[in-house]
Amino acid sequence: MTASDRLQKRLTKIVCTLGPACFAPDQLKGLVKAGMNVARLNLTHASAKKQLPIVHLVKEIRSKHPIGVGILLDVRCAQVRTGVVEKPIEIKKGQEVCFGVEKLRKESGKHAFISVDYSAFGKDVRKAEILLLDNGEMSFDIVSISKSGLVKARARQDGTIGSRRHVNMPGADISLPTFTDADWEDIETATKEGVDFLAVSFIRTGKDIADVQAFLRKKKSSIRVMAKIETRQAVANFKDILRESDAIMVARGDLGAELPFEQVPVIQDEIVAQCRAAGKPVVVATHMLESMIEHPLPTRAEATDVAHAATIRTDTTMLSGETASGRHPLVAVDAMDRILRATEQHLREINGQDMPKAISDMEARAQSAVLLARSVQATAIVVMTKSGKSAEAISKFRPMIPIIAITDDETIWSQLSMHYGVSSLLCSFKGELEDSVIRGMKAAVAAGLLEKGDEVVLVTGTEITGGSVISIQAREVR
Ligand code: PGA
Ligand code: MN
Repeated sequence: MTASDRLQKRLTKIVCTLGPACFAPDQLKGLVKAGMNVARLNLTHASAKKQLPIVHLVKEIRSKHPIGVGILLDVRCAQVRTGVVEKPIEIKKGQEVCFGVEKLRKESGKHAFISVDYSAFGKDVRKAEILLLDNGEMSFDIVSISKSGLVKARARQDGTIGSRRHVNMPGADISLPTFTDADWEDIETATKEGVDFLAVSFIRTGKDIADVQAFLRKKKSSIRVMAKIETRQAVANFKDILRESDAIMVARGDLGAELPFEQVPVIQDEIVAQCRAAGKPVVVATHMLESMIEHPLPTRAEATDVAHAATIRTDTTMLSGETASGRHPLVAVDAMDRILRATEQHLREINGQDMPKAISDMEARAQSAVLLARSVQATAIVVMTKSGKSAEAISKFRPMIPIIAITDDETIWSQLSMHYGVSSLLCSFKGELEDSVIRGMKAAVAAGLLEKGDEVVLVTGTEITGGSVISIQAREVR
């Protein structure tokens, strides 16, 4: 590998959603090899308990991989779904159908009846502008709502409705509590099992996140909480939500159904900018390479969307159906990896750098390490970190070179998987600091992250009488 190949190491991270298309051990290994940084399990269709065997499998595979790989459980939370049907219901454009809770079936008379699993549906739906199924695959104009809460609606296009389809009611403020008992059970399972991240769906306020954080504190869990921004209320309350969260996901699928889709790009960029200023990781999710569920090549528009996420220096891009149920999971990861790397290379060449503000002493030091790395044209920044915090702070300043984080904490090792540019390695910190540095550098060489002769910037904590200071040095790899 030449220096320039190594320079092209990808900095933007990739989350892959796991599903039947990649559950087999060899396929999972393939995903890690292809560049999956974080594995996501969606708890919408099966509980955390049921998916534990996959979590165990990922843990086993990542334990043999030098660079940390994260595990994210995505909690379903309050969402309205249609009921189970024996066979999909065919709907014609202009046809009037009735939506309502199961006990209103009789009232629907000759109309096709679509049951929903939510008792206050008839009440909450009054504020909705339209009804959407599957993020807008089908849409219905609301014609009338009966006293009992049966909703007559007219289909705006032909389509079929299968079992348990997700219902969006843009404009409505759903009175369901954000978390159901099943969600709390999933969260508890996650704390017992020990995963890296919990993504929480359809949250609306900072308090929703604070509730999860309080639960995790009680359980003494170090799981990081990622708020999915996918409701109007979450967009309106974003500042509060960001304050309570460890990470954010721009959940464009539901966001583009709950809000006019033309607003999604602007909201995405605004959220990424705010997360970067706060130094918290942000994921851009959904439809990134959607056509690759079927096809082996992305559309040029999709390639440009992934490149855009890299240009605004989001921490992470995400694949959903592309890896969970698509025909070409590995090809999709490879495509995303290639687009991200090509864009990052371009960003390096034009040297378009915008440095956020340092808001703490630690960030000020991290910023100086990045500036030093730039002036000595370092290959990488190596940081010895117990808590991961100094690696995170360096990542905030987006040096366009790898940040090699050496840690002796296994949780930090896998949690750093979400941060821009960070490749984490697990090493013991026994003995003198210099011994640990040498072990860490060796591990980085073994993992293909460094080569003898490379110039690096090394960031360490050093003990002095009465405390510790940070030291920043330029060094050659020996
Ligand atoms: P989902 O969330 O895949 O769980 O729906 C992401 C999104 O809505 O974009
Ligand atoms: Mn969603």
